[in-house]
Amino acid sequence: MSRGFRDEDVTQAMTDKAIGDTISKVLERDAEQEARSADRRAHGDAGLCEDCGRPIGAERLAALPKSTRCVRCQSAWEQANR
Ligand SMILES: [Zn+2]
Repeated sequence: MSRGFRDEDVTQAMTDKAIGDTISKVLERDAEQEARSADRRAHGDAGLCEDCGRPIGAERLAALPKSTRCVRCQSAWEQANR
């Protein structure tokens, strides 16, 4: 029963929790994005950027059908929401 072992366990537990939090955040975001994309399809707005209103490139939609922003707005959004 050395103190060192306990500390390692705590560190490991914290790391596991941090990884779990990150994963659930990513999954949550993905689910949100899915819902938003479905909502925009329902309103006939699919294919238009939700920020600037310009058409999202066909290539981007083919690669990422759930996209609701054009490349420029998406990268701005990701910078702001990191
Ligand atoms: Zn845009």
